[in-house]
Amino acid sequence: MTDDSNNHNPYFVAQKQIKACADILELEASAREVLLRPMREFHVNFPVRMDDGTIKVFEGFRVQYNDAKGPTKGGIRFHPDETIDTVRALAAWMTWKCSLLDLPLGGGKGGVVCNPKELSQQELERISRAYIKAIGQFISPTKDIPAPDVYTNPQIMAWMMDEYSSIVGNNQFGVITGKPLPLGGSPGRADATARGGMFTLREAAREIGLDLSKATMAIQGYGNAGCYAAHLAESMFGSKIVAVCDSRGAVGCKDGICVPKLTHHKQTYFFVAGCEGTEDVSDQSLMEMDVDVLVLAALEGVLTEKNADRVKARIIVELANGPTTPEADDILFRKGIHVIPDFLCNAGGVTVSYFEMVQNAYMYYWKEKEVHEKLDAKMTRAYHEVSDTAKRFDINMRQAAYVVAVERVVEAMKLRGWI
Ligand code: GLU
Repeated sequence: MTDDSNNHNPYFVAQKQIKACADILELEASAREVLLRPMREFHVNFPVRMDDGTIKVFEGFRVQYNDAKGPTKGGIRFHPDETIDTVRALAAWMTWKCSLLDLPLGGGKGGVVCNPKELSQQELERISRAYIKAIGQFISPTKDIPAPDVYTNPQIMAWMMDEYSSIVGNNQFGVITGKPLPLGGSPGRADATARGGMFTLREAAREIGLDLSKATMAIQGYGNAGCYAAHLAESMFGSKIVAVCDSRGAVGCKDGICVPKLTHHKQTYFFVAGCEGTEDVSDQSLMEMDVDVLVLAALEGVLTEKNADRVKARIIVELANGPTTPEADDILFRKGIHVIPDFLCNAGGVTVSYFEMVQNAYMYYWKEKEVHEKLDAKMTRAYHEVSDTAKRFDINMRQAAYVVAVERVVEAMKLRGWI
């Protein structure tokens, strides 16, 4: 397992990270064995009628990685390149994420191999419902609770919740999170991933003495997380966004991009390229720009041993899951770049999802301000637990996040008598 393709396989990366953490914690063999593999996974193939009347069979997955600390929790991705190994890795990362934030939840993830950009709304709805029909018996508000992820959104969550409710015969708002507000969604869920990441950025900047009101920022990815990050970095700190890219191209402006204009352009054309007041830049040069903060808000595996050495940012904000390989981590640590690791940095999404579950269970809803305050408290506490652990063991921030998260999962497994 040493060739390049394996090095970049997310599941291989996730396992490598777990092994390194197990070494630091000197874990016994039984704990390692359990932590290295998902506890359960489901592979489904389901037929969907397309708009032209033909039937197409779609492939989907749901992985329940570890439920020692509670029901498994994690998003569903709709992506043409989805693989079981990607979903396994993402489910593992959800396990550490929920544990790190001290949520009473385990980790899971789902995926459907499809390209939403080529599907009509009706086809998207039929795929969403058919996927839930296929995995319906394996999820429930106390077993496994899905949520949005790459290319899925609140409307898709609403269809999925409705389908599940039809299957069980009563309203089950708590089976899925990230729902629209009128259907039991939580205030503050839409921008929770980015907002949580900004709280950790605030703490990191304080620690290294970076004044965010004068900071420049480049953002890789302009979907839900990247777009909200741009708006929040500007409104919360007054930082200047100097470059942004998405899957179709990259744009920049030395004096700062007008963020509302860029978001309007993206909403109109579905890409950032060509936005008025910006010039084209290459995706690669965006990652290597001389900025204070680099936000990674797209997909996994974008910072590797091939480009990590050229990164100039002082802080890396990992809003995406798994954007940095272990080889790149070593390089960034040597260079003294402060990485806020993914399952700490982007945990705001699942934290507000957990708040949504609590509100659904009580049928009593909080104000947005209350959600923001509770989220801030949880993110700030987790940030300092990780940062203190990194200093104590002289390890990088990702290894420190692993140490805190894995220790709690192991403790839960021991108390349950599993290992
Ligand atoms: N998909 C998000 C994540 O990767 C949120 C998961 C959730 O809310 O359950 O953290």
